[in-house]
Amino acid sequence: MDAAVTSDRFAPAACARLVVKIGSSLLVDGEGAVRRQWLASVVADIAARRAAGQEIVVVSSGAIALGARRLRLEKGGRASLEDAQAAAAVGQVALSAVWEALLSDAGLTMAQVLLTLGDLEDRRRYLNVAATLDRLLALGAVPVLNENDTVATSEIRFGDNDRLAARAGQAAGAQGVILLSDVDGLYTANPAKDPGARRVPEVKTLTPEIIAMADGGSGSGLGSGGMAAKLAAARIAASAGIHLAIADGRVPSPLARFAEGGHGTVFVAGDGARAKKAWLAGRLTVQGTLTIDAGAVAALARGKSLLAAGVTVVSGRFQRGDVVALAGPDGVIGRGLAGYDADDAAAIKGLRNDVQAAALGYAPRAAMVHADHLVLL
Ligand code: GLU
Repeated sequence: MDAAVTSDRFAPAACARLVVKIGSSLLVDGEGAVRRQWLASVVADIAARRAAGQEIVVVSSGAIALGARRLRLEKGGRASLEDAQAAAAVGQVALSAVWEALLSDAGLTMAQVLLTLGDLEDRRRYLNVAATLDRLLALGAVPVLNENDTVATSEIRFGDNDRLAARAGQAAGAQGVILLSDVDGLYTANPAKDPGARRVPEVKTLTPEIIAMADGGSGSGLGSGGMAAKLAAARIAASAGIHLAIADGRVPSPLARFAEGGHGTVFVAGDGARAKKAWLAGRLTVQGTLTIDAGAVAALARGKSLLAAGVTVVSGRFQRGDVVALAGPDGVIGRGLAGYDADDAAAIKGLRNDVQAAALGYAPRAAMVHADHLVLL
């Protein structure tokens, strides 16, 4: 399949909602200034797609790089977490100002949305983000997202906007995500080191061979993504039924160029993944583990809920609604939203439903993890 055909998946006719992620090294030049003319060409691309009926969510990096220049920080503001957080606080203002000016010149309204990992991992907050993005798009605004780097500490950061873009795609119910990058796709080997490296135009399955092609680390030193982060994003997107492209962002009007058959790699989404289950499977952090017996493993495989009677061990500190791992006798088999806080789960583990009320002091729920809220991995 040639590039023109694969990029059709991201055209307005096929993709009502599209997430476009822009990396720091494209947006900010070597001196730490915004590449305004290039960005204006991206905004023109966005305006054209909007006019064709496509709703666009932007994920924009560049806050740390822009702030580092203003604060005269070394290593692009990434010498320490404190530097990065300070740089982001200063740079995000500049980043928003540029987006606001360029989008409004194009007749579009910018909405700034700063997110932490927790906002998209916590089920309640995830649903809030989804509803807000939906409302903003319905109102005709262009949401411009970034990680809230100033308050996200290292243990709980996305750390790269590639995965943030894939998660935002899920939350926004997008059909496509385009990662504009300073590389024009996935190569069979690192093209800087291996002259025989070939670009892979389309990936249907993320096999171990494909994953081995990724070469960790950002080429430019400005962003934090690298190919490994892009593949992680592709995995999240694919499991949510979203096509993801890595496209060459080094050219003017990169979205138009990509649509015309420009270079890139398209990761084709799997079919039929239900959004809720996809979201669960892709979550980065789990709060605890429910160890379950072989009978429960068999019941889950038949699509049943997890009952307390099948739980043998409860570990971790979690609350009702948190994600827990489900471990059978042979290891982790799935994930689900806990129906109980950890203490109550421990109080009723191994008990049949008719004797749980006495242990809990209140009427029990139907299941420890409902079938609708669990996924087998
Ligand atoms: N959120 C970071 C910034 O705005 C960029 C993260 C990344 O490089 O992907 O500077």
